[in-house]
Amino acid sequence: MKLSMTDNGQQDQWVRPFLKKYKGLLMLAIFLGFLTFFSAGALMFNSGYLISRAASLPENILLIYIPIVLTRAFGISRPVFRYVERLVSHNWVLKMTSDLRLKLYRILEKDAMFLKSNYQTGDILGLLSEDINHLQNLYLRTIFPMIIAGLLYVVIVIGLGFFSWWFALCMLLLLGVTVVLLPILSVLVNGARQERQKGTKNQLYKILTDNILGVSDWVFSQRGSEFVLSYEEKEKELREIDGEIKKFDRRRDVVFQLFFGMIALAVLIWAGTRFPGNHGGAANWIAAFVLTVFPLIDAFAPLSDAAQETTIYKDSISRLNELPEVEGAKEAAASNPNSTKIEARQLTFTYQNASRTVLSNLSLEIPEKEKLAILGRSGSGKSTLASLIRGDLQPTQGEMLIGGVPADQLGDSITEYIGVIQQKPYLFHTTILNNLRIGKESASEEEVWHVLELVGLKKMVQQLPDGLQTMVDEAGLRFSGGERHRLALARILLQDTPVVLLDEPTTGLDPITEQKLLTTFFDVLEDKTIIWITHHLQSVQKMDRIIFIEDGQLMMSGTPEELMTGNRHFQMLYRIDQGLN
Ligand code: ATP
Ligand code: MG
Repeated sequence: MKLSMTDNGQQDQWVRPFLKKYKGLLMLAIFLGFLTFFSAGALMFNSGYLISRAASLPENILLIYIPIVLTRAFGISRPVFRYVERLVSHNWVLKMTSDLRLKLYRILEKDAMFLKSNYQTGDILGLLSEDINHLQNLYLRTIFPMIIAGLLYVVIVIGLGFFSWWFALCMLLLLGVTVVLLPILSVLVNGARQERQKGTKNQLYKILTDNILGVSDWVFSQRGSEFVLSYEEKEKELREIDGEIKKFDRRRDVVFQLFFGMIALAVLIWAGTRFPGNHGGAANWIAAFVLTVFPLIDAFAPLSDAAQETTIYKDSISRLNELPEVEGAKEAAASNPNSTKIEARQLTFTYQNASRTVLSNLSLEIPEKEKLAILGRSGSGKSTLASLIRGDLQPTQGEMLIGGVPADQLGDSITEYIGVIQQKPYLFHTTILNNLRIGKESASEEEVWHVLELVGLKKMVQQLPDGLQTMVDEAGLRFSGGERHRLALARILLQDTPVVLLDEPTTGLDPITEQKLLTTFFDVLEDKTIIWITHHLQSVQKMDRIIFIEDGQLMMSGTPEELMTGNRHFQMLYRIDQGLN
């Protein structure tokens, strides 16, 4: 039974690779699942034999003693196998989905780092919770039962083959209908209906939200009833599709039961001819074979529904497969940087899905401990340059080196070299202490108080009733924009990276707070490289060098004094900036 997971022909990165992982556990889960049904069948087989044997007055008590022991053994082993199988398969699925989530976080983290997010928060939540849950269900409810049923199917047919090849062939066909034909038919018939059902449901949601928002317009134009009518029509359509799906399910289930009835009858007839006799002797086997048929219903009945559900999972899987790949090899650094000098060599960068070149042939050297301001119009590529420095993006051409090593090859160890403060630093809903220890997990409370003092928050935190244990964002306690930035700075100080990248760290603050914050930043980061991306010129005179990016290139570059005295364009910008503030 082949499940077509991806329609678009692209390599599946989310289902098959993970089936290979934890292979041992997976095999064990499937084997235990098989044993559960095997025990159930064996129990009935034994019981059937035992009943007939007991009824036919056995000449020796041992003849029924062994079946009694076996009945007990299979009676106990069935629930035990089932229980252990549940434990193993859920363990496997949880391990696997935790890996899937990790993979997803890695992809999204890269995307979120510089807020160049291609996905909206809602999508991300959807991806995290729904799609991965769908995958989880796909394994537990579809793939496992199908493999187990497939195994049983093969074992039954081969097992019967030992008694009579023609009857094995007959079962191959009859069981084949329930294991192969009905599931395929379900996917074909109801798959398309489910697709339509989903489409109509989405449309309904859209119509409803649109119209609720604009409900007053409908009412004022006295066309309210028209709207209700059109809505009801769509709803009716949905109900009809629902009805069709259920009708098909019911009919299919009847056919399934009929087939199993036929299978039971066929086994009865076959066993009757194979083990002739009125009672006693070979005839004892008849009930054994016939009764074995019934527990198998449990294994085969859910298959059609399970196969049908693959339509629901297909969306999730293709959505996951559309995400960009992260290279697994990025964990380990290729080699260690020999310094923290940053160097862009004839760097050109174009976003994959865009035609415009953002940076073209840009060369730039940032020596250790330099204080560099990067200016430029909105959209000129400043944040893109920052992402390239942090190794989150790969140059299209040319190189971006940190201490001689390409930034994108540093992988996760980049966090030892470069710290980032964003426009809106994110604080997590946990204690102040935990929020700061993100920078350095092992930081002692003394270290934390020290950095809080450096960023000018010690007093404020001391005055809080719970001090460092105060929950951030707890009702009534909100940090102001400036305080958030200071906390972010404290984090970076704990992280103690030699390079700190500030991407417009003060946007949205009032000029006085901004001024104070920048002073703190530059004071405490004195002995580090600072790369400061900014829109306006306030405080730029504190920098060693200022560069302007325009049309993907360095337009101006020089010390503040040089630019101030020798560059008319800069003087003009400076005047405008001062005037605007
Ligand atoms: P601002 O000052 O507004 O923050 P910026 O100088 O930081 O602007 P970037 O964010 O680097 O500008 O963007 C440079 C150009 O690249 C813009 O034209 C932007 O539309 C484009 N761009 C940014 N991110 C992506 C992306 N993920 N895919 C395609 N194009 C992008
Ligand atoms: Mg930017």
